[in-house]
Amino acid sequence: FVDAYIKTEANRLNYIRQNQKLLRVEKYKGLMDHLASENTDPQFTPGQPFILPSTFSGSPRNMHQNYQDAMAIVRKYGKPDLFITMTCNPKWEEITENLHKGQTSEFRPDLVARVFHLKLKQLLQDICKEHILGIPLAKIHVIEFQKRGLPHAHILLILAEEHKPKTTELIDKIVCAEIPDIQKFPRLHSIVAKHMIHGPCNNTTLNLPCMVSGKCSKEFPKSFQNETIQNCDGYPKYRRRDNGVGTLSHGKIINNSWVVPYNPFLLLKYNSHINVEVCASIKSVKYLFKYVYKGHDCANVLITEHKTSQHDEIKTFTDSRYVTAPEAAWRLNAFEMHHQTHTIQRLEVHLPDEQSIVFHPKNITIAVETAKTKDTTLTAWFKLNAEHPPANSILYIDIPMYYTFNKKQRQWKQRKTENNKTIGRIVFKT
Ligand SMILES: [Zn+2]
Repeated sequence: FVDAYIKTEANRLNYIRQNQKLLRVEKYKGLMDHLASENTDPQFTPGQPFILPSTFSGSPRNMHQNYQDAMAIVRKYGKPDLFITMTCNPKWEEITENLHKGQTSEFRPDLVARVFHLKLKQLLQDICKEHILGIPLAKIHVIEFQKRGLPHAHILLILAEEHKPKTTELIDKIVCAEIPDIQKFPRLHSIVAKHMIHGPCNNTTLNLPCMVSGKCSKEFPKSFQNETIQNCDGYPKYRRRDNGVGTLSHGKIINNSWVVPYNPFLLLKYNSHINVEVCASIKSVKYLFKYVYKGHDCANVLITEHKTSQHDEIKTFTDSRYVTAPEAAWRLNAFEMHHQTHTIQRLEVHLPDEQSIVFHPKNITIAVETAKTKDTTLTAWFKLNAEHPPANSILYIDIPMYYTFNKKQRQWKQRKTENNKTIGRIVFKT
């Protein structure tokens, strides 16, 4: 699977590499300056070498753009209210039933990817269509793969005003951080015991992934708490009563301070690790978004003897990313890595003659001629305002709700009905 995916990816990257020279981006003014000085320096071609464009899913530019798009949603609707992480359970019946004799789930990344895709689809349906956590105004989700493999999804939800978990009663309804009673809720008890217990970690378990310089990075064990407290540094402190130590089904001796917050309905329905957290303040949002869009966490250092090194983003990308079999299977199936409920219209802002234009180095004169008459979203907006007075009362950033930008004609066209699934975002290019 990894080999097959790497070949597919290499083909795409190769196409990008081969077509770099055809498409260079430069400011209109820079090109005019270049034309003026053309004869003095024949070696000089404007633009930059080997760029990995944002259209390539998973590239640093793509991640950055998704982050900015997500922040545009926050600008419009406010901070997310719930942060949900769903992890694949390799013991799901749908996976184990379809294994061949003697196989384990590690041998079947195809099954893992397809079953997780279906479960996630159902979970998103429960949230977005069935409104099990309240009516969402916007949803953003991102798929991530741990280094050794299993997929998980980070979901951010912005809820309608009346459903925001603003009271401790509502928080307690959605999120639970205690071990359920084994007599009253035997099935929930066993699922929590299996999937929602952190560690236990301490000074003698330094090899656990959560341990960073002798401390648990997730801050377990959590302190006991008789009642939920709404906001402590961006997160609520959930109720964790000190009702003694119990032995769980698999023999661990544990109390409520080790429970990862969960939603009972989701656990019972999906039987996997599903962490549900309430975001109490705007402080936690940027961290969450950075975390969600952090991209591949592998560093790449280049030491060179030459004074100048080739600026090659494609090579940097392939040299410093991890591909696991489940990710390869996921991407070969063309499953989405990222999705949001809203479309983001990117709006340019630039000084006169400073707009970016794409051109072929052999056809600079033609590029300059076309750019002279080709409107950007900004110049087209100026024209719209001059010719169409109803647009005068709408801010540039809100214009995509009422008008669509026709890329061919380079014009803003009025929508038949107002569209609030499209959000404008100002972009600046350097
Ligand atoms: Zn820990």
